[in-house]
Amino acid sequence: MRPFVYNALPARVVFGVGTIGQVADEVRRLGCRRALILSTPQQQGEAERLASHIGDLAAGVFAGAVMHTPVEVTEQAIARLRDLGADCTIALGGGSTIGLGKAIALRSDLPQIAIPTTYAGSEATPILGETENGRKTTQRSPRVLPEVIVYDVDLTLTLPPGLTATSGMNAMAHAVEALYAQDANPVTSLLAEQAIGILAQALPRIVQNPRDRAARADALCGAWACGTCLGSVGMALHHKICHVLGGSFGLPHAETHTVMLPHATAFNTASAPEAMACVARALAATDAAQGLFDLAGELGAPRSLREIGMPEGGLDEAADIAVMSPYWNPRPIERNAIRALLQDAYDGRRPDTAFYPTTPTETVNV
Ligand code: NAD
Repeated sequence: MRPFVYNALPARVVFGVGTIGQVADEVRRLGCRRALILSTPQQQGEAERLASHIGDLAAGVFAGAVMHTPVEVTEQAIARLRDLGADCTIALGGGSTIGLGKAIALRSDLPQIAIPTTYAGSEATPILGETENGRKTTQRSPRVLPEVIVYDVDLTLTLPPGLTATSGMNAMAHAVEALYAQDANPVTSLLAEQAIGILAQALPRIVQNPRDRAARADALCGAWACGTCLGSVGMALHHKICHVLGGSFGLPHAETHTVMLPHATAFNTASAPEAMACVARALAATDAAQGLFDLAGELGAPRSLREIGMPEGGLDEAADIAVMSPYWNPRPIERNAIRALLQDAYDGRRPDTAFYPTTPTETVNV
């Protein structure tokens, strides 16, 4: 067995059906009395329902969360938090809303309860991405890790099939990269393989019947495991490319992960054979990359960058940015190979691992 270092993150997780009913107890357990509830404009109704449910423990609702956590929105939310004299936040929603809660915690150090309604996994990580003057930057800080996560399966029943598919593939991307992470360890590897298997089984059932509560429970639990992997170990090429495509080309987050994952997996297959064997086993496929591509197809999810708004003329620039200050990756990153990978993803070609060389030709990462 390889030597390893494992850092466990503190987490209190309440998981089940109808657990929204336990949020008031969780607020009191934190020693708090006035929670500011955060949501997107689209989920304001859910946030208001939670506010009336917890009664006097709700200071108010701020329903202004948007994608990529712009600093201006965080400042508005903090102004509201101060006006209302709130002493904690409750983020009810997907990664965008949870990102706002984290940005507030970074500046105020107030405790947070996260109530995730997608599979993005942000609630289990000490990572915060923020946008200022059109630039997205990411940081890790223990201050942004939510103190409590409340998973209520019922809140995911309304997640549309399209977002269910792409958000689920976004979660899987955390687990796939955890398996070949530089700091991979037995705990995250076990979690990752199990989570990929659970999601691969649950997502097709949900797309068939979005109100399948048992499948929703499996997917949400799998997403927690994937988020835990993301929070515990470093990510590699796949996350780097998605960051470039989201940050510099404005591509949608979960869809970008869905399109890129099979291609990044194919790129790394020969350099991380054990990890890829785990992925393939979890997918019940013969090849990890093709298994992921086929799963996205079965889910009716987008499989090409063209479909999700990438301009073909931007592929050269994307390849240039992706090789600048690259993340650690099991296979060294070479610009021409990345450009070819992006073209495959743009065209939505089924990845063929045989086309990727087993020995690296050029090294730019450390
Ligand atoms: P999102 O939070 O932007 O949600 C997308 C849309 O779906 C929103 O309109 C939202 O209101 C709606 N929605 C969410 N849950 C719903 C439900 N159950 N029913 C109906 N509608 C629902 O999407 P996301 O993919 O969860 O989050 C993406 C953001 O999260 C990105 O900015 C990404 O960078 C960030 N993220 C951060 C981390 C991290 O660790 N820091 C991890 C993953 C994602």
